[in-house]
Amino acid sequence: MKAMVLEQFQTPLTWQDVPEPDVGPRDVLIRVVANGLCATDLKITDGLVPTVPLPHIPGHEAAGEVVAVGAAVPGLQPGDHVTVYPTEGCGFCDHCRLGVENYCATAPRTGFELNGGFSQYMRVAGRNAVKVAPELPWAEAAIIPDAIASVYHALTQRARVQAGETVVIVGVGGLGIHAMQLARLRGARVIAADVMPDKLQGAAQFGPDAIVNSREEDLPRRVKELTGGQGADVVVEGVGSGAVAAVLPDSIGCLKLGGRLVVLGYNYGVPLAVDTADLIYGQWSILGSRASTLQDVVEVARLVEQGRLKPVVSEQFPLEQVEQALARLRESPPLGRIVLTS
Ligand SMILES: [Zn+2]
Ligand SMILES: [Zn+2]
Repeated sequence: MKAMVLEQFQTPLTWQDVPEPDVGPRDVLIRVVANGLCATDLKITDGLVPTVPLPHIPGHEAAGEVVAVGAAVPGLQPGDHVTVYPTEGCGFCDHCRLGVENYCATAPRTGFELNGGFSQYMRVAGRNAVKVAPELPWAEAAIIPDAIASVYHALTQRARVQAGETVVIVGVGGLGIHAMQLARLRGARVIAADVMPDKLQGAAQFGPDAIVNSREEDLPRRVKELTGGQGADVVVEGVGSGAVAAVLPDSIGCLKLGGRLVVLGYNYGVPLAVDTADLIYGQWSILGSRASTLQDVVEVARLVEQGRLKPVVSEQFPLEQVEQALARLRESPPLGRIVLTS
């Protein structure tokens, strides 16, 4: 079979012949149809993620059709449409037993420590292949476990957004556009902030209660105005990469007494500076949130199937053009996800 292979960090991926993966009794083999592209893929190809071995097939947001099913995998059949939860939890540590596989210290992940979806076929642990309705477009199915479920985890399990609260979404890219929808779904009032007018325009169709161009307006001041001087209950930072350092001070500045900041975007070596007096007197919670649980993925899949949540796909590229897609993501991340199709 063919795959897009990363031979060396900081060099282009190449389309080459590779052996078909071994499929164990607890695995399934899928024909990969779509892969979401994530800012983490830039970190992986740049060599910043220390656990990624070489040569490597990236892709941690895959969806595809089941073509072979291991003898010990119940409930899946060839022809089923599945989306892939990347974290293969050990199943035996306390975290896995509590259902938070994303905390499992030894879990390898497809597209990180294991080969991912940038290939014609892919081995997936049967438990991680989450069946979705066949009517769901492939590109939308692919982005459920990462771009959407990670945000769902952040809002429901970490920030625990409640009905009637005010949530500020900083950055309406691939994560923020789904955070907006999920915050509304939980009954919160949503303020969307970004510096790109076209993204804010695109975000408007998802019904935020207010939109702030944080390049033209002082975001903390505007949020205070919109909340009767109180500030926001929850601020979701969804920018990440190079911009995360620039937006965190303003994100913190939006918090009300007792507010929660949840940080989704990240970059290595970027510290978070906070005045400790503000932190103590403000009674703030600063929350990191990484990935999602298998349960989150199943819940999000149902919300998408019910039409209550719309996966936002901005652009699609054929898998063979992954380098163009990565360049596009690096220079200006679009409103929703970029998806690779095959
Ligand atoms: Zn990702
Ligand atoms: Zn575990």
